[in-house]
Amino acid sequence: MVIEKLKPLFNYEELQEKSVSGNGMAGMDILSVQQFDREMLAYIFARAREMREMVQRVGEVDLLKGNVLTALFYEPSTRTSSSFIAAMERLGGAVIPITQGVQFSSVSKGETLADTVRTLEQYSDAIVLRHPQIGSAKLAADYSAVPVINAGDGAGEHPTQALLDLFTIREELGHVDGLRVAMVGDLRNGRTVHSLTKLLLHFDVSLRFVSPEILRLPLNIMNQVIDAGIDSRETHDVADVIDNADVLYVTRVQKERFADLAQYEEVKNHYEITPDLMKRAKEKMVIMHPLPRVGEIHYAIDDDPRAAYFRQVQNGMYIRMALLAAVLGRA
Ligand code: ASP
Repeated sequence: MVIEKLKPLFNYEELQEKSVSGNGMAGMDILSVQQFDREMLAYIFARAREMREMVQRVGEVDLLKGNVLTALFYEPSTRTSSSFIAAMERLGGAVIPITQGVQFSSVSKGETLADTVRTLEQYSDAIVLRHPQIGSAKLAADYSAVPVINAGDGAGEHPTQALLDLFTIREELGHVDGLRVAMVGDLRNGRTVHSLTKLLLHFDVSLRFVSPEILRLPLNIMNQVIDAGIDSRETHDVADVIDNADVLYVTRVQKERFADLAQYEEVKNHYEITPDLMKRAKEKMVIMHPLPRVGEIHYAIDDDPRAAYFRQVQNGMYIRMALLAAVLGRA
């Protein structure tokens, strides 16, 4: 196994103790989905629906006027960074974007994450952080007096993506309990898969994990699935799950997590969801993808009403508006 070993710097389980219900989220860091229970999810989703209605009717409000968010991205991002910026601006707040230029900032002079965070908190009311190292968001939160939101910590978690994924499932299909969810692709390195899987453990779902052998779901997450008593199975073949899936959650092979690029080349084109394959899928189901896609879903599927990935993107902004309002004490 040449893929870089995933070694957590801290124990996400500890965060469960910090779980709160209802609207007690003011000042809260959002580091892992394990901070959320069903009551809290319902609360965030209700706020996200209000945000959707507001955006569709008036476009913006001044709920977060006077608030400043720092978007600190040490890894590439298109959707997550721009949806946080859009979310903040639609709520009347301002953003310090350090999204494309980390290489031009003091980080390139050797500044530690702790010092960068302790500096940026002097200007801002919240910090959104994407960083290649598992546990980095927790580390930043330990140093920051303002809320830190994890926008992806290496191959660890991506909690705001999982919230928007679950919200999309709920809005598209009307419910979550009773659904058959199949996750396809790089389940080992895909942080969105890790977070969504953990979030789905709160529901009465059945899970199917479809990956090449070397990209199977990490054992610690599989153990959580088993401990939760969720019906689950692993397979290498999408054909095994396509007939029954209510949700087909497709992911990209995470090239940046491979120490050996030859190994990436071997598995990168393992799956492609094609119109032919979709003929076997249920009429009422959704295909989702956290994006970017690099060949996993054929473009001809984009016009299929079951293709929810761009609606998923839009939901991301509403969820992030709800989260920002909540942690800044305005929801
Ligand atoms: N955009 C998602 C992430 O940041 C998925 C991906 O990059 O494949 O994890």
